[in-house]
Amino acid sequence: MKITSIEAFQVQWTPNDKPSQRSAFVRVHTDDGVSGLGEASPMQGGLASLSMIKHNLAPRLIGADPLDHAVLLDTLLHDFVKLGPEGALTGALAALDIALWDIKGKALGQPIYKLLGGAWRTAIPFYASIGGNGDRTLDEVLRVVETRLKDAPSAIKIRFDNNRTRLDSDIPGDIAKARAVRKLVGDAFPLAFDANNGFTTGGAIRVGRALEDLGYWWFEEPVQHYHVKQMGEVASALEITVSAGEQTYTLAALADLIEAGVPMIQPDIVKMGGITGLQRCAALAHAHGVELVPHQTQPTIGHTANLHMVACQLHATKPAEWNDPSTRTHAVFENPPKPVGGMFHLPDGVGLGLVVNEAELAKRRVEI
Ligand code: CA
Repeated sequence: MKITSIEAFQVQWTPNDKPSQRSAFVRVHTDDGVSGLGEASPMQGGLASLSMIKHNLAPRLIGADPLDHAVLLDTLLHDFVKLGPEGALTGALAALDIALWDIKGKALGQPIYKLLGGAWRTAIPFYASIGGNGDRTLDEVLRVVETRLKDAPSAIKIRFDNNRTRLDSDIPGDIAKARAVRKLVGDAFPLAFDANNGFTTGGAIRVGRALEDLGYWWFEEPVQHYHVKQMGEVASALEITVSAGEQTYTLAALADLIEAGVPMIQPDIVKMGGITGLQRCAALAHAHGVELVPHQTQPTIGHTANLHMVACQLHATKPAEWNDPSTRTHAVFENPPKPVGGMFHLPDGVGLGLVVNEAELAKRRVEI
């Protein structure tokens, strides 16, 4: 089997959107007639990753055997590392890796989770990931949490998404929101607090102590992601589980985070490594006895790839992230992932198991 062509394109979900609001998809075709789908990190519409795929990576993959995906993509990572291993290049390679796994599954007639060694679970609990709470009033935060409780999540994470150039901007307000959400959901409901890198080390420890009193489950990215040592300092000072890693793009950088003392790592399948990369992250986490709880906010391909991954994870200690409950992004698939009874169920089909609605995809596709 040989790769014959690779398409890299954006998908538009609403008319008159901005390019930065679109998804970044890749489709790899083979001479067997099998094709696979992948998705890159959607930062700025994934345009940087899609451009690298189109101009740098795709020309090198034409004629190659898609089953050689790990060799091919590790070669490209090292050949193009000076394009910047963090972000755009790793997102591009992640998209290609997912597409090549989709092809491998289809070619071998198996779902990806079987090729990964089998699933520990095919029904996967999720947590509702709720962004934008820094700018909301306390009452608005409560209203949006109430809405998301209707999906029957196993946990809720409130994200603050504050401006990262202004640290510790409203610690009393942030704690008040965390306290109000705890009161709303009751003492037993699992909650997480995502600081989105908004605090100084001292500010983070102060907030973390309040979260401990409120019985929060984990405290995500308390300080700037590039302050690895300080992330570890915050983790060491607190009893609450501190997590980080969604902005970590190499296995070596994840090892640095673990070494600094962070007990829960959150690499993202569309940002680094794809399925092959996340499997390596799982091995690293297991070897060091830290939790692996992948970050993942893309509702179709990214989410499905992540479900295959976490289904096969030995110690899946937290629910899978689910960011976007809207169905607007579901249009291009016949069977988009939707939770049933508070669980996502792995699709039955081969490869990723997603069935494309070709007419809708053609209509929404935007060339780069
Ligand atoms: Ca986060």
